[in-house]
Amino acid sequence: MPPENATTEDVTDLLAKLVGFDTTSAKSNMALIGFVQDYLDGHGVASTLIVSADGEKANLHATIGDGDGGIGLSGHSDCVPVAGQNWTSDPFALTMRDGKLYGRGTCDMKGFIACVLASVPLFKSRKLKEPIHILISYDEEVGCDGVRPLIARLGADLAKPRAVIVGEPTSMTVIDAHKSIDVYQTRVTGKEAHSSLPALGVNAISVAAELIGEIDRTAEHNATTENDPRFEPSYSTVSVGTIEGGTATNIVPKTCEFSWQVRGLPSAPAGEAARNLAAFAEKDLLPKMRQVAENASIETESQTSVPAFIAGPKSDAVALALALTGANRTSAVSYATEAGLFEKAGCPAVICGPGDIAQAHAADEFVSIAQLETCMRFLADLADRLSV
Ligand SMILES: [Zn+2]
Repeated sequence: MPPENATTEDVTDLLAKLVGFDTTSAKSNMALIGFVQDYLDGHGVASTLIVSADGEKANLHATIGDGDGGIGLSGHSDCVPVAGQNWTSDPFALTMRDGKLYGRGTCDMKGFIACVLASVPLFKSRKLKEPIHILISYDEEVGCDGVRPLIARLGADLAKPRAVIVGEPTSMTVIDAHKSIDVYQTRVTGKEAHSSLPALGVNAISVAAELIGEIDRTAEHNATTENDPRFEPSYSTVSVGTIEGGTATNIVPKTCEFSWQVRGLPSAPAGEAARNLAAFAEKDLLPKMRQVAENASIETESQTSVPAFIAGPKSDAVALALALTGANRTSAVSYATEAGLFEKAGCPAVICGPGDIAQAHAADEFVSIAQLETCMRFLADLADRLSV
């Protein structure tokens, strides 16, 4: 094996470093980004940071090789919290047991980033026909927000890849579609009254219950009218997550708020459930509420919106991932990623990365060494394919 080919030990060492940075989405990722920037610098690769408004977080964009187009390798640096989870070993200290590497983010998705970084010497050693771009984001786990300012600059002052591989854990299978996520907060404002005279008030909790009933009917409707067997479940799901309202049993509650979400099929019209809910409120609820309290209101605010992903019919990104994995079929998943945002911005995307999504976000998250080795071969094959 030529010296520039990374060993499993190189990948493991890099992964240990990355896992050592607690990059839970609520925290800064600057220490990790600084480490990556220094590592790339050490290999003669310049990088650009796209820093968040508060200076606490940054995306990183780096290019190896010259010319237009090229292939983007994309990963998010943040991970989900460990709070409330029962871990066998320290989640921020990489631990090996039985061929598996345990730690927060090993699977989702520092394993992929470690493979990409470990492949940098190999990429650098080749004469590339087109460049390889490294794209590392923040705040993916809280609505794919961090990557948006990076994507906005692709093709402007940052080199725009002609295809992007998003290395989320797919067990190295090729994923060409995923559902959307829309999270909403609905706030009902009614009117307070003594509970002995409820007719003088507008009960915000009761109104919220009617709205939730409508949301459940929408969920039911989707389950019986939509059917895309590539997805599990095969329809767009709608569900309520949290609810809060009222102050005491003897007061008709003035306010009630609840959060709900839609996980939509790529074919489902965006925002439809929220429009349905608004129409139901306007027609069936607000007129009655306003007879008692003219300021009564029902407001729904969008909190997170991650577009669905569906690769184009002749996607370069999908063709490339199929060629590199040797697979002859693609699959779809129900979780969302940054792929939909790349695709929407004119960068054909595909999802393919090491680790099983079943381990992502869980206690004792791990990635197997075998998966990392498969990913390393995938990246070495990419280098071969892009070499003169
Ligand atoms: Zn992820």
